[in-house]
Amino acid sequence: MRLATAEIDLSALSYNLKRTKALAPNSKVMAVLKANAYGHGLVTIAQHLHDADAFAVARIDEALALRAGGVTKPIVLLEGFFNQSDVSILLANNFQTIIHDENQLGMLEQAQLDAPIATWLKVDTGMHRLGIAPAQLSAFYQRLKKTENAKPAVYLMTHFPCADDVKNDRTAQQIREFKQLTLNYNEPLCLANSAGILGWRDSHCDWIRPGLMIYGVSPMLHCIGKDHGLKAVMRLTTKVIAIRSILSGEYVGYGGRWQSEKNTQLAIVAMGYGDGYPRHAKHGTPVVIKGERYGIVGSVSMDMITVDIGDNDGMIQVGDDVEMWGRALPVEEVAACADTIPYELLCNITPRVSYEYIE
Ligand SMILES: *Cc1c(COP(=O)(O)O)cnc(C)c1O
Repeated sequence: MRLATAEIDLSALSYNLKRTKALAPNSKVMAVLKANAYGHGLVTIAQHLHDADAFAVARIDEALALRAGGVTKPIVLLEGFFNQSDVSILLANNFQTIIHDENQLGMLEQAQLDAPIATWLKVDTGMHRLGIAPAQLSAFYQRLKKTENAKPAVYLMTHFPCADDVKNDRTAQQIREFKQLTLNYNEPLCLANSAGILGWRDSHCDWIRPGLMIYGVSPMLHCIGKDHGLKAVMRLTTKVIAIRSILSGEYVGYGGRWQSEKNTQLAIVAMGYGDGYPRHAKHGTPVVIKGERYGIVGSVSMDMITVDIGDNDGMIQVGDDVEMWGRALPVEEVAACADTIPYELLCNITPRVSYEYIE
């Protein structure tokens, strides 16, 4: 019996990419595949995003895994590179790199290369994580234009910290400032992550960088993917492995954190934090069995979760499927019940979970 399984709907993936392109019809798409394609499986996801113009990852190892899997599209490294010796790896594998600080630019200039590398110059317009200050743009740009190690086109990019909140006008301010700053540079611009694409039309520009939304999930506050016409790609399921009765007043699970107020039945389901399900999912977090929602009770343990199924009357049986999140139960909703964001739930899926790809 197959227990914890992540069903990955590849037709939903293609559908979401199409939907993304419809929302930003004049932009090229850099599909973001970091963290194992947000837990969906790096190479398989890349192989099914035929219509993306490029891919982005965070680490060189992720980019090398894509090449090893036969992926030939351009790959952009969102954090750039870290050592002088990395530069020749970038060239050999046709990787493109972010340049976000003096250190990286210096290493690029000093490298002995037979051919140039494509660069994306990252400007910090308010995230204060990576990126050069707006006042440094001109100097960095001139140096990239001058070095023979950088290709002539220098893409200009920035990133949003607050685009998930359409009421926060910092994003509009960032867009204005970045456009103003780059006005006299005749280069391609790239601003929008998923939240930019969904919430801020002015941010679309030449390139977009969708991550979460191509997996059918919404980054926007209080929204689910369906609100934007997206379809959830992952369905995380498992099975009921036991059913038992408990009496009113009995405690359930580690720490006896939940006490039943009535005689009831529990379904024990084979899923826990060892599979990546959040241990902090609170009492009442829904799961779906036979089309109905039931709440979890007690602590999530490593391998199992207890679900209160009430009177049951033989409706639910050992071996029944349980959806932990998916089309019937948005991962956004489960994330809210665990005080986290859907990004974290998706990329926390552990290697114990089997993947099943459906077309
Ligand atoms: C992760 C990431 C993205 C994609 O973000 P989503 O919110 O998943 O769309 C885009 N740009 C950068 C720089 C990132 O790190």
